Amino acid sequence: MRMAIEPLVARIQQYNPHCDIGFLRRAYDFACEAHKDQKRISGEDFIVHPLEVARILAELELDLQSVVGGLLHDTMEDAGIDLQVIRNEFGDEVALLVDGVTKLRRLSYRSKEEQQAENLRKMFLAMAKDVRVILIKLADRLHNLRTLQYHSVAKQREIAQETLEIFAPLAHRLGIYRIKWELEDIAFRHREPEKYYELVQRLCSSRSAREEYIRGVIDLLRDKLAAMGIVADIQGRPKHLYSIYQKMVAQQKDLSEIFDILGIRVLVDSVKDCYATLGVVHTLWKPVPGRFKDFIAMPKSNMYQSLHTSVIGPEGEILEIQIRTWDMHRTAEYGIAAHWRYKSGAREDPAYDEKLAWLRQILEWQHELRDAREFMETLKIDLFTDTVYVFTPMGDVMELPAGAVPLDFAYRIHTDLGHRCIGARVNGKLVPLNYQLATGDIVDIIKGKHPSPSRDWLNLVKTSQAKTKIRQWFKREQREENVSRGREALEREARKQGLELELVRGEKLLELGKRYTLHTIEDIYAAVALGVVAASALVAKLKKQEREARQEEAVPEPLVEQQRWSKSPRGIRVLGIDNLLVRLAHCCNPVPGDRIVGYITRGRGVSVHREDCRNIKLWREREQERLVKVAWDRRFDASFQIRMEITGMDRAGLLRDVMNVLSEMKISASWVTARGKKSKMATIDLTIEIRNLEQLNYLQQKLKKVRDVYEVRRVV
Ligand code: MN
Repeated sequence: MRMAIEPLVARIQQYNPHCDIGFLRRAYDFACEAHKDQKRISGEDFIVHPLEVARILAELELDLQSVVGGLLHDTMEDAGIDLQVIRNEFGDEVALLVDGVTKLRRLSYRSKEEQQAENLRKMFLAMAKDVRVILIKLADRLHNLRTLQYHSVAKQREIAQETLEIFAPLAHRLGIYRIKWELEDIAFRHREPEKYYELVQRLCSSRSAREEYIRGVIDLLRDKLAAMGIVADIQGRPKHLYSIYQKMVAQQKDLSEIFDILGIRVLVDSVKDCYATLGVVHTLWKPVPGRFKDFIAMPKSNMYQSLHTSVIGPEGEILEIQIRTWDMHRTAEYGIAAHWRYKSGAREDPAYDEKLAWLRQILEWQHELRDAREFMETLKIDLFTDTVYVFTPMGDVMELPAGAVPLDFAYRIHTDLGHRCIGARVNGKLVPLNYQLATGDIVDIIKGKHPSPSRDWLNLVKTSQAKTKIRQWFKREQREENVSRGREALEREARKQGLELELVRGEKLLELGKRYTLHTIEDIYAAVALGVVAASALVAKLKKQEREARQEEAVPEPLVEQQRWSKSPRGIRVLGIDNLLVRLAHCCNPVPGDRIVGYITRGRGVSVHREDCRNIKLWREREQERLVKVAWDRRFDASFQIRMEITGMDRAGLLRDVMNVLSEMKISASWVTARGKKSKMATIDLTIEIRNLEQLNYLQQKLKKVRDVYEVRRVV
């Protein structure tokens, strides 16, 4: 078994001849011992896996610590080795790497929503205190993929899926295309075997013709460049199966239509040569307009640099050409890993860690950046200081603002969990409620039997969501008190006005309440206690109804009178005229309860206005004869549009508070605009659906109680 490490030693000595090979051998012996009784699913000794992972890292020419980290990466989780032991044996740096990889292993990835996948990718970057942790993780995943055939088909598909969702995008973002492509192609093979093999077959059948064509192009270009004195390495560019497949799917094209399968890459010594080569290419073949991209002047966010152009090739085919220096090529293949490659003395650069820190921030940026200015902007944004990522016990990732405490977490999961939170376990240990969560924490809320929020919590929590929910709780608690106070007030008033007590407890009161959008007896009592509805007014109305009901029973309306009122198609009856088209006027938007007058239009039926509408005043003087009596049909139940204007002090949250009143009353708004003025005043215009005047009056009262609202006006 000892012999197995020799190829690795040889590979490292190639690029890092002076490294401490003894250190590497010790790590290997340690890993062998730790995993000695373990086998992989393939039946091989377990040690084959960490050794291969280390080999992949050595292929990236990473520093010795990374390679050793690769050898030891499974010793904690799979062999139960203590972190302290690793620290004692191999030092802090290696311990940090192994610990980091172990933590990442505890994440659960199973078929996530896209948002979860994005969170997980961010989390990876935020969590890995050292970028090398991710490099080791990627190498680990790559070797697992290479040996995927030993798993069941279902497991293969699952691992392939999560590789495409999490790991390949990460490798892409870090610019490590070497690993990204292999991850994608293997995952593609397991995820969609039929499509994969079909594509392979079709590419094979056309390969020789294509290769011959490319060879001709390369020869021609090489001669021209040599004549200019440019030393260049020109390669036919292998296209990766998965990227071809993605292009076919995205553009809904057949393989034959994906033109840039024909591609070549030119590697030269200097930036000057890059542009000179571009000139040669463009004189040899006609460039395709709009396809030239200068990623040398404007590097991609993952530091990729190159010139891209497409030209019409010798046979009229479109040919994609990339031109870059060897240095740029290394960055293109290895991405961030290129910066961790062994270089003597490089680690002594004091700015190095700082550079890495911002690099990580840029890499985190989700979208490719469009221009250099945007690129510079991202340098200033501190993406990680204001967010923490923590886990639920189920392994879901949750994004919270920095400074968040377990209560924020609990309220984010469920309101009830927040209310009942009596403590929390973070990473298995009890923590106080003011414990500030850190990225990577696994948070488990301890739930009490009964909800028991405390007002002190308002000072602890960081998220507005938690604050709102705690406040709501206290509002609701006061409510019970309000309900009993309101009932007492109503009963007192009923006695005073001589109304039967039953009436302020039952059906009739409930019906009356509906006009104020109060839908339960408790709501009505609470509204009375809060002074929103006056007890005296309610009792008076009940009394009046009572009286009317008695009269109706006693003296039925005369038949003639009934017939004189038209049927009511829109909730409005017109006196003496039948079958008229009736519509509500938009100049004053009347609602049930408003005093109204009808106006017989020329050919468009009766328009119904509020009595105080200025048009009506006009017509009273000039066309008195066209005005008719109209009345609301009480049985009619519909909503009516009106406009309101609210003015108040311009502050954050004013509009939200106004909208909260509407939503509490279940009133829908079809139009809302808000504008601020220089004078610190804000005006909110609303178009809302109202059932009747009483509801409107009630709404106005409630709106006036919103903090910083000065005036509420119905707009005519
Ligand atoms: Mn592993």
